[in-house]
Amino acid sequence: MRVHLVNPSDVSFGVSVITPRWLFVLAAATPDEYGTPHLVDETLTRLNVDEIAPGDVVGISIHTGNAHRGYEIGHAVRTRGAYVIYGGVHATLYPDEAKAHGLAHAVVKGDGEIVWPTVLAHCAAGTPIELYDGGRIPGGSFKAARWDLLPDDAYMFGSVQTLRGCPKHCSFCSVWRTDGQQPRARGAGDVVDEIRDLRRRGFRFVLLADDNFYPVTKTDLAMAARRSDPSSLHELEAIRRDRFALMARLAELPADMVFYTQITMEAAEDPEFLDAMRKARIRGALVGVESVTKEGLKSVYKDFNLAGDALVKQLRIFRDHGVHVLASFIFGLPTDTPDTFEATSALAQAANVSFAQFVLLTPFPGTVDFQKWEESLADPPKIDGVPLTRHWLLPPMRRPKIYAPHPHMTHEQIRQLTQATWDRFYSLPAIWQRSEVIRSVKGRLAFMLISKLYRQMYANTGIATDSARHVRANRMARLLAKPCRRLFVAKATA
Ligand code: SF4
Repeated sequence: MRVHLVNPSDVSFGVSVITPRWLFVLAAATPDEYGTPHLVDETLTRLNVDEIAPGDVVGISIHTGNAHRGYEIGHAVRTRGAYVIYGGVHATLYPDEAKAHGLAHAVVKGDGEIVWPTVLAHCAAGTPIELYDGGRIPGGSFKAARWDLLPDDAYMFGSVQTLRGCPKHCSFCSVWRTDGQQPRARGAGDVVDEIRDLRRRGFRFVLLADDNFYPVTKTDLAMAARRSDPSSLHELEAIRRDRFALMARLAELPADMVFYTQITMEAAEDPEFLDAMRKARIRGALVGVESVTKEGLKSVYKDFNLAGDALVKQLRIFRDHGVHVLASFIFGLPTDTPDTFEATSALAQAANVSFAQFVLLTPFPGTVDFQKWEESLADPPKIDGVPLTRHWLLPPMRRPKIYAPHPHMTHEQIRQLTQATWDRFYSLPAIWQRSEVIRSVKGRLAFMLISKLYRQMYANTGIATDSARHVRANRMARLLAKPCRRLFVAKATA
């Protein structure tokens, strides 16, 4: 019985930006008696089903975006007589769907690493059960990944997780519902050991792939301090202390290492935390700005963010502390008007953010937005026989780009204005201007290359409606990815 672990993807670039951590973690959770698992990351190359034999186990982790491809793989490998096991956020939310559409023998809900050996033992005995609940395991039980199984010359960034869960409750996000609102942090020693392992393998750039690297804000502390019972204040203070302890350990790592993560904008109000990030060489962070207007922020339950000039000022604070921001904006909110696109673009430039992404509002399952939207459609329209409220079951090119009627704009208008915003932000003169913060010409050229790659991978493949543009974007991303990778890695010393 051979174990295969597959990360499904509709597009393969030959080289990928970030290591899909779950593959290497589940490989570490696979007992030795089953041999070395066969890992397939389809963002690099497609699965070759000829490698699957009857009685093998194929583990497929799916999120909503790649569930359709995951189910295709399930069909292909079950036809060859393999056990089909699904895990990941989407399978956790829809275990029955994985059975109906992906021919699952079993689904693993929640965190997979502790329950995985049981699943394999049941498959080996020919008795897998339909549902395994992996639960939410404590941070001390998170497994280190088996980086010894990394393919050569394939990835730009290593990835390490230091914490799961997020105490916020943004309406468009499922993280707080699936991973929980109680942060579960891993010990600093375990995190650092894994990063050292990655550095020995040539990775200088490592993503701290947390749901939210800044789980306790100054406001949270102030609110807890006002309560008569001090226990929650003590709990929050302990989480905060652990974050600082981790950053102090990161600061001791080799000087050529650079880290990236994702945080909420409230970190800008916490100079002590930003200073610790700078010392730890956390040079970049994805920050969910979402909307540049107060009304837009309110509509996604994110009114803890600032808007307008105050927002520009707040975003500049990150840069002042040496943290480059990848700002994430959502378009298609009911409060958006045609002017919102221009205003967002101007704000992103004025705020000096290094990278930006402009995503279309999509109702993802597990979110409050999805729940409301699904409830509002008693008889949802169908595309190719698939209800709109199950849009992920359609092949990517058949999925709508926008889902709900908009009060001020047509769907095509929103799509075109979003595409134009990407084009404007990633035009060569705009990128060159943003690269001014980097002193060396080589550094500036690297910044341009990675900016163009980012745009090709995420803009054209995501919101373009014609397949010719998709094909061109994929080809361009493949061309850019290899030289880009060389800029990020160092010589392996392992
Ligand atoms: S969007 Fe970010 S801050 Fe909001 S719930 Fe999700 S992970 Fe937390």
